[in-house]
Amino acid sequence: MELCGLTIHELQDKLRAGETTSAEITASVLKRIDAVETEVRAYITLMRESAIEEAARADEAILRGEIKALTGIPIALKDIFCTKGVRTTCGSRILHNFVPPYDGTVVEKLRAAGAVITGKTNMDEFAMGSSTETSFFGVTRNPWDLTRIPGGSSGGSAAAVAADECIASLGSDTGGSIRQPAALCGVVGLKPTYGRVSRYGLIAFASSLDQIGPFTKDVEDCAILMNVISGYDPRESTSVPEDVPDYRAFLGRGIEGWRVGIPKEYFIDGIDPEVEAAIREAIRVVEKAGARCIEVSLPHTDYCVAVYYIVAPAEASSNLARYDGVKYGFRSEDNRDLLDMYKKTRSAGFGEEVKRRIMIGTYALSSGYYDAYYRKASQVRALIKRDFEQAFADCDCILTPTSPTPAFKIGEKTDDPMQMYLSDIFTISANLAGIPGISVPCGYTKSGLPIGVQFLAGHFQEGRLIQFASAYETHAKIEKRRPAL
Ligand code: GLN
Repeated sequence: MELCGLTIHELQDKLRAGETTSAEITASVLKRIDAVETEVRAYITLMRESAIEEAARADEAILRGEIKALTGIPIALKDIFCTKGVRTTCGSRILHNFVPPYDGTVVEKLRAAGAVITGKTNMDEFAMGSSTETSFFGVTRNPWDLTRIPGGSSGGSAAAVAADECIASLGSDTGGSIRQPAALCGVVGLKPTYGRVSRYGLIAFASSLDQIGPFTKDVEDCAILMNVISGYDPRESTSVPEDVPDYRAFLGRGIEGWRVGIPKEYFIDGIDPEVEAAIREAIRVVEKAGARCIEVSLPHTDYCVAVYYIVAPAEASSNLARYDGVKYGFRSEDNRDLLDMYKKTRSAGFGEEVKRRIMIGTYALSSGYYDAYYRKASQVRALIKRDFEQAFADCDCILTPTSPTPAFKIGEKTDDPMQMYLSDIFTISANLAGIPGISVPCGYTKSGLPIGVQFLAGHFQEGRLIQFASAYETHAKIEKRRPAL
């Protein structure tokens, strides 16, 4: 196996033993990018030179015996994280030339832990989408089948890990944007509890839902990245001053005697039969590992998508009001006056889907409609949260499919927003409730597309989620394949 195909912990063992260097690892990743990127197109911006420099610095640190949590490991960032001096587009024309003057907190933390940043990955515009097709910079392709989407909105980050174009990456998840692409690309993706990871320097989509999380090749790497990015940040008012456990300590602990909730509302018509079969098999695996599966009910599940598509666009319409062409980003030319500039800038700067969300959100918040839509949605959201509280009184964690289908064809759902929105039918509820969720590979379809299983737990139970996912991974023994690129 080439170095780029290894995990963080495997590479760390090699670095510590002096069997390889960060320069070699980084060169292996860059070589892989050169070989496959024209097909996959996971990146918007490659950071080749700085990555090579950072690798050299990591090797000097290792020689001095200074090895930190990610020293010398190549990591990619969704292009939604502000990176000092490096263009940050959020997949949009309106930010195509935006160069932030600062690093977001997670970027600072990765750098402080010694990581090598490989570049900024492709995404749906402003993280609105489930396929990475709404990006201004073109479509990313699924490494397992180049005619298919990688999922979204963090499709570039998921595809980059699956294609070995980085060792791990970060994404953001507002309604499923980490877990769904992780499932469709055959990697591990975790959305932490709302408030667990600081969002300072994350370009906002829907502020009551957005969370940052890792994409990795296995559960152990997920724990390693969670150790680095979690924690309170005084610069971010929704980050929670709750202690961060050592997530690695939860690996390999077993799940004997755990009660696992299987929500009956999640096995619906329209779920792909191969996905359903893989999930049923995952249930058998956790039972063999000593857990007991019980049926639970999340009675307001039917309303999740509707509630999300009021709350998320409402918050987006407010967050995106700042893109007016005045201080940064794209500005239209030949403007008659200020109002004309606003109009032309926003008309030309935003894509179709973003405009659709701004219109829905502005309508839902407008006077006379606020009570009927936003307030009502917030009330139903409280019921959805309560469903989980009641379910977690009876079980330690919940098991569901991550996505109702494997990766679909490029273009298949672009003309049908409702069909696209239904891609997140199993992931949205965790964002509405603020709870953590992880997607772990659980098999392949007959045609070789990856399938993911989702585990959910109560607030700040990421450790238990990692414990469960690690036990599942050990017992399921899903065959490790590599996409044939
Ligand atoms: N697909 C959902 C949407 O389009 C979720 C996106 C996300 O989690 N950022 O809004």
